[in-house]
Amino acid sequence: MRDRYDIIVVGSGSAGSSAAITAGRLGARTLLIDRLGFMGGTSTAVLDTFYAFYTPGPEPRRVVGGLGWEVVERLTAEGIAFERPNTYGAGTGVTYDQEALKVLWEQLAEDAGVELLLHTWATGVRVADGRIDAIRIWNKGGERTIRADVVIDASGDADVCAMAGVPYDNAQMQGRVQSLSTLFKVANVDVARAASVPKAELWSLMREAAASGAYQLPRIEGSWHRTPFSGVVLIHMTRIPNVDATDPEQLTRAEVEGRRQVREYHRFLRDRVPGFEEAFVVATSPAIGVRESRRVHGDYRLTREDVLEARRFDDDIALCGAPIEDHHAGGDTEWHHVGESGVYGIPYRTLLPSGIEGLLVAGRCFSATHDAHASARSMATCMAMGQAAGTAAALAAQGGTEPRALDPQPLRDRLRSDGALLEPLATAMTG
Ligand SMILES: Cc1cc2nc3c(=O)[nH]c(=O)nc-3n(C[C@H](O)[C@H](O)[C@H](O)COP(=O)(O)OP(=O)(O)OC[C@H]3O[C@@H](n4cnc5c(N)ncnc54)[C@H](O)[C@@H]3O)c2cc1C
Repeated sequence: MRDRYDIIVVGSGSAGSSAAITAGRLGARTLLIDRLGFMGGTSTAVLDTFYAFYTPGPEPRRVVGGLGWEVVERLTAEGIAFERPNTYGAGTGVTYDQEALKVLWEQLAEDAGVELLLHTWATGVRVADGRIDAIRIWNKGGERTIRADVVIDASGDADVCAMAGVPYDNAQMQGRVQSLSTLFKVANVDVARAASVPKAELWSLMREAAASGAYQLPRIEGSWHRTPFSGVVLIHMTRIPNVDATDPEQLTRAEVEGRRQVREYHRFLRDRVPGFEEAFVVATSPAIGVRESRRVHGDYRLTREDVLEARRFDDDIALCGAPIEDHHAGGDTEWHHVGESGVYGIPYRTLLPSGIEGLLVAGRCFSATHDAHASARSMATCMAMGQAAGTAAALAAQGGTEPRALDPQPLRDRLRSDGALLEPLATAMTG
C-alpha cells in the first residue's frame, strides 16, 4: 500500500464501486476501502434488484447508462440477471444474483487497477486550510493515515463528511427518517402456486393474521419476488421505524428486531400462504438495510419540487425518473411520481459538500432533502452519481485543481463519451 493516492474512495457500495472503477479507468491511482469483507454494500448485502434504470409507466425510457448499465449487461450475459416489471410503480427492475455481483465488482475493480482494501474502516480525516488531504483508516493491521488529492465519501452514512465537519441533516433527529428493513431469502417455495395469490389477497391474509393476535406483523404490505434460482424467493416485508442508523445501540436493537420480524413473517407465510408451506429461511441480509441516515449539505440540495416538477439543471451529471418512495412508521408506503417529462436531473453541485475542498460525496448520502432523497436513492441512480464523482475526482486530480473548480461542461462531455445518459433513451425492454 502507498502512503498517497490520487483518489481514495470510502465505501464500496453501488456509488463507491462505480466511483473507484471509473477513476481507475481514467488512470487515477485509486484506493477503495470498505469495512465489509466484500464489495457492493447494500447491492450485495441486502438487495437483488436494481431500480431506476428505467422510468416507470407504460413507455419506459432508460435514464442510466455508463458503468451501471455495463454491470447489467455483464450479469445478463452470464444468465444471472433478468428484468422484472414492478407492480408498485417504481418501474422495471433488474433482478440479479448477489454472489455473482460481488465477484463482478471485484473483477471490474481489478481490471481498472483499483487497489481494494476490505475489512477497513475510515475513522478520521485530516483537514488543513479548509481542505481534506488525508484520511485515517483502521483495520486488523493497525491504524494509519493515507493522503489523497481527492476523497470520495460513498459511505452511505456520510461518515467522512461528518468527520470533516461538513453540515448534514440527521434524518432521525428531524423526525422524518425512512424505516429500516431486514430482507430474507427462503427456499423450497412452490413459486407458481405462490404467484397465483394476488398481492391484494396476500395483504388481506396478512391483515387477518395480524388481527387474530397469533402473529406480530408490524407492516401489512410488502412483497416477495423470484430470484434467478428455482424455488428461492427474496422477501421484503419487515419494517423497523424511527432508528438513527449512526447510533450503534439503536442499530443493534434494529438488527435484533429485524431478525425477530423475519421469523414472524416466515411463520405467517408458511402457515397461511399457498406455495410457502415447505419454505425455509436460507439467509437474512448480513446487515440490516438502511434507507436513510445522514444527508450531507452540498452546494445545492435537491428538493421535492425539483423531483415532482421534473427540473433539469445546467450541471446535471445524472438523471432519475424514480418516484418518491417513503417507507415510514405505520403500515403503508407513500408514493409520489415525477411529473411532466417524468425525468429530473441531479446537479453536480449536490456532490460537492459545503465548505470544504478536496471532497466529493456520492450515493444515498448526497445533498438532498428527505423527499428528494426518497426518489434518488435507488441503486442505478447511485451508480450514476458514483460514475460522475469518480470522473470529477480524476479530472480534478489530473488537472491539479479542486473538484469545486471544475467546469461542469467538460465533465458532462466526459460522462457522455463514457456512455452515461444525460438525456433519456427511448428503449425496448430486453426482458
Ligand atoms: C431495505 C431497502 C430496500 C431497498 N430496495 C431497493 C431496491 O429494490 N432497488 C434499488 O435500486 N434500491 C433499493 N434501495 C436503495 C438502495 O439500495 C440504496 O440507497 C443504495 O444501495 C445505496 O448505495 P450507496 O453506494 O450509496 O451505499 P451503500 O450500498 O450502503 O454502501 C456504503 C458502503 O460504505 C461502507 N462503509 C460505511 N461506512 C464506512 C466506513 N466508515 N469505513 C469504511 N467503509 C464504510 C459500507 O460497508 C458499504 O459497503 C433499498 C434500500 C433499502 C435499505
